[in-house]
Amino acid sequence: MTNESSSAPNFIRNQIREEIEAGKVDTVVTRFPPEPNGFLHIGHAKSICLNFGLAEQFGGDCHLRFDDTNPAKEEQAYIDAIKADVEWLGFHWAGKVRFASDYFDQLYAWAQHLVREGKAYVDDLSPDEIREYRGTLTEPGRPSPYRDRSPEENLDLLERMRRGEFAEGEKVLRARIDMASPNINLRDPILYRIRHASHHQTGDKWKIYPSYDFTHGQSDAIEGVTHSVCTLEFEDHRPLYEWFLDNLPVPARPRQIEFARLNLNYTVTSKRKLKLLVDEGVVDGWDDPRMPTISGMRRRGYTPASIRKFCEMIGVTRAEGGMVDIAMLYHAIRSDLEDNAPRAMCVLKPIKVVLTNVPEDHDEVFEVAGHPARDDMGVRRLPFTREIWIDADDFMEEPPKKFFRLAPGKEVRLRNAYVIRCDEVIKNAAGEIEELRCSVDFDTLGRNPEGRKVKGVIHWVSAAHAVPVEVRLYDNLFQVEAPDRDRDVDFLEHLNRDSLTVVQGCAEPSLAEVAPETRYQFERVGYFCADRHAAAEGRRVFNRIVGLKDTWAKIQKKG
Ligand code: ATP
Ligand code: MG
Repeated sequence: MTNESSSAPNFIRNQIREEIEAGKVDTVVTRFPPEPNGFLHIGHAKSICLNFGLAEQFGGDCHLRFDDTNPAKEEQAYIDAIKADVEWLGFHWAGKVRFASDYFDQLYAWAQHLVREGKAYVDDLSPDEIREYRGTLTEPGRPSPYRDRSPEENLDLLERMRRGEFAEGEKVLRARIDMASPNINLRDPILYRIRHASHHQTGDKWKIYPSYDFTHGQSDAIEGVTHSVCTLEFEDHRPLYEWFLDNLPVPARPRQIEFARLNLNYTVTSKRKLKLLVDEGVVDGWDDPRMPTISGMRRRGYTPASIRKFCEMIGVTRAEGGMVDIAMLYHAIRSDLEDNAPRAMCVLKPIKVVLTNVPEDHDEVFEVAGHPARDDMGVRRLPFTREIWIDADDFMEEPPKKFFRLAPGKEVRLRNAYVIRCDEVIKNAAGEIEELRCSVDFDTLGRNPEGRKVKGVIHWVSAAHAVPVEVRLYDNLFQVEAPDRDRDVDFLEHLNRDSLTVVQGCAEPSLAEVAPETRYQFERVGYFCADRHAAAEGRRVFNRIVGLKDTWAKIQKKG
């Protein structure tokens, strides 16, 4: 097979391998640093698989560290969800869960250190003025009139900021680097902002909060992180990351390495936008099975192994702007379930078939394999009776030439059972089909009929033994490949209004009781998963994970 192996490029893995071989690195320590301001999505899965994967491959540690510097947008509920997602994906963080806020005291002491060294100052400019003074890509910035305050004055003001003596926005602490730097991140970046907000970890202790830039590298250093892996938008921040390491008495020297973020077509991967979908009620919560969140994918029926495999397949590079085809994700789950999901029959659009030569009290049971290649999945029992359900799509009154399913006067095989022939179509007054009257050829169990070829096989369920199931058919949430590429059009304009279709189906009796998150292949239909919430309440609801047709494998064969 193409592309399936673990040979997809991963330049960070290669680089670390070389460093280890050259004796430059001893133990590898990485971290996954989410901000708890939303649920994790498939882009984060890439970062998780990369960071935890590197630690696993090189026998090192990966930390889970919440980047919790913005109390206004963060919540304990997100922390809990993120921990559950990482564990569900099958990864284990080393030691306790860490928080950037664990280091607030140390960061504050380091801020004072910079002030004493004349490398940071308290600025009274307003946020708008700071932006204006900063200049542009083509114009250098101008120094703030407060830039040359003495260390003593700055120390005093910083302390009073900390004690809550000033209003939000009244003052900030900035590094004193270079207002003319071609890299705007070095034009006296903000280190602390005043926020009179309660923090989920530190309560009301702090009235000032450190910026991401002032927090991240130092947290890495405190934890002894060796490789601080992040996405390419932080490339321009790297000189600042290093400036802090150079100018503070940090205990270690981590290195930032950037890679290209995952973009998936027909999908948005931004917590902010996903939160909007939740807040606007477009979807049924963060774990709606249409959401590209890890919890949504879990509820949809993805397995952790399939997501890890997908992340391995896409590789890790620095090539920006690429878009991964969602067909690849579908391929990853399909190939997992092909091998591991038991089979069942379920009719999604039932029409009744009366088998006229089968007696009313006929009660035959076929024992068939749970999975064609997995003896460990045992057998299932399929009762065969006079009345059965078949799918409306498997019958056509006036079929085109290559229609090998059921039609008036034509024969078809019932999967795992007999060949039947359609003798009569019964309609109601409105001309709609009410039932089909068919006859069974009892000489066709496990063998071909005499003297004629029957090509088609359709699935069916005994009407007397069918269990009703709700089936939720999901399609892409967006109609276009890049819903958020267009600046002038709101991404919500691109929503696919038909992303969810609910049908009432009839399933074989082996589905009468299923545990939450049990996955099946509904033969000829697709892969389905028992909805974890509905199943927990004893309701039979199945989410379609993915159809059977593998467009990705097809593309690979052609290519
Ligand atoms: P979002 O824009 O969705 O809020 P974020 O980068 O702000 O994402 P964080 O919680 O800060 O979210 O991300 C934690 C880690 O996950 C970071 O190291 C970030 O680079 C990485 N990450 C986020 N999105 C992607 C993506 N699409 N592909 C790969 N890594 C990602
Ligand atoms: Mg972020």
